[in-house]
Amino acid sequence: ARQLADMDASRLTITKSTTPKPLVAPQDLVFGKTFTDHMLSVEWTATDGWLDPKITPYQNLSLDPATCVFHYAFECFEGMKAYKDSKGQIRLFRPEKNMARLSASSQRLSMPAIPEKPMIQLISKFLNVDERFIPSEKGYSLYLRPTVIGTQRSIGVGPPGSALLFVIASPVGPYYPSGFKAVSLEARSDIVRAWPGGVGDKKLGANYASCIAPQLEAAKKGFQQNLWLFGPEGYVTEVGTMNVFFAWLSRTGKKEFITAPLDGTILEGITRDSVLELARENLGPEGWDVIERKYTIAEVKEAADEGRLLEAFGSGTAAVVSPIKRIQWDGGMERRALGEKGAVEINVPLSPGSETGPIAQRMWNWILERQYGEIESKWSVIV
Ligand code: PMP
Repeated sequence: ARQLADMDASRLTITKSTTPKPLVAPQDLVFGKTFTDHMLSVEWTATDGWLDPKITPYQNLSLDPATCVFHYAFECFEGMKAYKDSKGQIRLFRPEKNMARLSASSQRLSMPAIPEKPMIQLISKFLNVDERFIPSEKGYSLYLRPTVIGTQRSIGVGPPGSALLFVIASPVGPYYPSGFKAVSLEARSDIVRAWPGGVGDKKLGANYASCIAPQLEAAKKGFQQNLWLFGPEGYVTEVGTMNVFFAWLSRTGKKEFITAPLDGTILEGITRDSVLELARENLGPEGWDVIERKYTIAEVKEAADEGRLLEAFGSGTAAVVSPIKRIQWDGGMERRALGEKGAVEINVPLSPGSETGPIAQRMWNWILERQYGEIESKWSVIV
């Protein structure tokens, strides 16, 4: 058999843009609307392996309408950020985790594994080329969007014989420019984001497209996000595009900090993993049990009714943490049939006069000081 080429960062070619874009003032940045001058691309074919990586001016792709990405959703992606620290150094946060997740997503779609080391080297080169777009204010960052698409020109259903990996980058401001704003959620029993044996634990574009319609319905009723439940038991899985954590007192009065386990229905959030580790380190000594287990919305409701619910928040790269103040649950399928009468309100406490709870506030600090290198951490990689 022919030797397939490995991805080789040393073979990178760089073509600089001759029309540099003006920088948008940090306070005017809108998430995901403006992009840097360049993009990183690496093509792959089933016969040759990885071709030479390229940094080129940011540009349109030209693809035949029969290309498999347009027909069978051969697409997966990552979301990660580059941060500039107070010394002007560029930092990534646990980038090997994003690469491992991208690799798992890509292989689930019968596309190639993504090698971590050369990818991090290439992303580092890309960041150096577009360095001027990385805002230096704390809370600001350069959002990176590594993407893999199937590029085979065929509408026969089958594994893509070719793929394109590309990375684009968008300067972004803080998710909460003027302080936290706690969110209200709608929890429905009739719409499911992910299921055991499915692909909810992979970052496939198709998982996201199908979540917009329920989100719009929630928005019409004044909710910012959906709380995704699973099964007749109403297991709590995730919120919008974030993992979710609850802090409560157990029935026996123990302080518990809880999130759902990685059972295949939940995206393995890198923020989730960081929150868990920081919680074990910092909340453990304060008497908190840090728990990954299945739990139901009925348990959350019971804790709220009995005054045991203390706090809830989502976690993800975009917002870091997103405090939750209220959940409207349709009450399960039987109560759902009753309409408004069946609905159940869950109010989540916030710190007095504030839009966040104490754990979310502290967690946000613990994560940001590591991302911006104020506290040296094994998670922060200088590029
Ligand atoms: N769940 C879903 C469905 C997501 O899209 C994301 C964002 N990638 C997360 C959780 C949070 O993951 P991370 O902390 O790696 O951003």
